Amino acid sequence: MTSTLADTDVLPYGEFLTEEHHAIREMVRDFATREIVPKAAEVDRNARFPIETFKALGKLDLLGLQYPTEYGGAGSDYRAYAIAVEEIGRACGSTGLSYAAHCSLATNPIYLFGTDEQKKKYLHKLISAEWIGCWALTEPGTGSDAAAQKTTARLEGDHWVLNGTKQFITNATDADMAIIMAMTDQSKGKKGISSFVVDKGTKGFYVSKVEKKLGMRGSPTASLTFEDCHIPKENLIGQVSDGYKQALQTLEGGRISIAALALGIAQGALDAALTYAKQREAFGQPIGKFQFIQGYLADMATQVHAARLLVYHAAWMKDHHKRVTLEGSQAKLFASEISSKVCNLCVQIHGGYGYIEDFPAERFLRDAKLCEIGEGTSEIQKLLIARQLGL
Ligand SMILES: Cc1cc2nc3c(=O)[nH]c(=O)nc-3n(C[C@H](O)[C@H](O)[C@H](O)COP(=O)(O)OP(=O)(O)OC[C@H]3O[C@@H](n4cnc5c(N)ncnc54)[C@H](O)[C@@H]3O)c2cc1C
Repeated sequence: MTSTLADTDVLPYGEFLTEEHHAIREMVRDFATREIVPKAAEVDRNARFPIETFKALGKLDLLGLQYPTEYGGAGSDYRAYAIAVEEIGRACGSTGLSYAAHCSLATNPIYLFGTDEQKKKYLHKLISAEWIGCWALTEPGTGSDAAAQKTTARLEGDHWVLNGTKQFITNATDADMAIIMAMTDQSKGKKGISSFVVDKGTKGFYVSKVEKKLGMRGSPTASLTFEDCHIPKENLIGQVSDGYKQALQTLEGGRISIAALALGIAQGALDAALTYAKQREAFGQPIGKFQFIQGYLADMATQVHAARLLVYHAAWMKDHHKRVTLEGSQAKLFASEISSKVCNLCVQIHGGYGYIEDFPAERFLRDAKLCEIGEGTSEIQKLLIARQLGL
């Protein structure tokens, strides 16, 4: 029997996925097909954050798949979450990126390191989409070298006073709360970084610059500025000086998100290219009959399958409480790089139509590129992998 794409992308994936994971995939795919695909081009064109999609995702319990029910979560696991990122990313890269930033970067530190009061205050709101969250590590002067933070926090009586600027922060324009890394002791370098939660509307805290981007345009990216911003002492997350350690742990899970997002975008591009190859005719036959095009599609399908195995394996390890420093970076490096390649071939298969906005191919390519940069560039992933190899 000839295998079709529909067969290949819902393989059982061995031990990695259970019946529950398949059911969650069906549910997310159904929602994404109905609600996200139809407006993907519009949110990209207008650089519009689709808040209504987040409200709907909240109602479906899809913003808290990996969190316990006591906080309003679905009580599932990281694989369920990775599948949701994949399916949402397949429909719209921008929505997938904002979804990952909200569910992983903003929610996870409160869940992992927050006090009971912080969990009570933020988790239900984030998981129900009453509030949107963002997470701010990067600054104008530092991204990869995250330890070189310039934002400061000093304790004054019952308040921390924040000063500095965070840059390239996903969801910043629409966020009701932000998690901020800041130096509490410059002399200690990365061991002097602490993390804080800051609510929208706090005096001295504002969105300062909204970026115009190559892709992921429906996912807002902006700077956050702090000018003598006073926040209550209780807004410290975890212990003083734990900020860098927390950020690394947050990013370890976040890398699996970005790998899943890259995978979803690649699958979207493969679907589009395959459909087009069957419909478009040249020299009296569908272009999919030409061996060059078949070779491209064979490579694309193989790369997507390999990326999916890496993503599910890393998520499976995380669900089994194993360290994923190596596997998360490998999944992120591989999935993001093949995603760009697959999306580039998708454009090529579409010919001239691949280069214009009437087809999603050009958007897939623009969106995919971000996955090689955000939450640690490919070069940084290689560095982390090499370290795990003992180099
Ligand atoms: C759309 C978008 C959304 C983002 N969302 C967020 C967010 O929500 N929160 C947040 O905190 N940040 C976010 N970022 C920031 C992102 O994580 C950083 O851009 C990224 O980590 C790279 O940092 P940089 O831009 O400062 O590049 P740099 O660190 O300046 O790197 C420039 C180049 O040098 C290379 N390089 C740097 N150091 C090394 C090294 N040691 N060895 C080899 N090569 C090296 C890099 O790989 C890269 O190619 C976002 C960025 C974008 C574009």
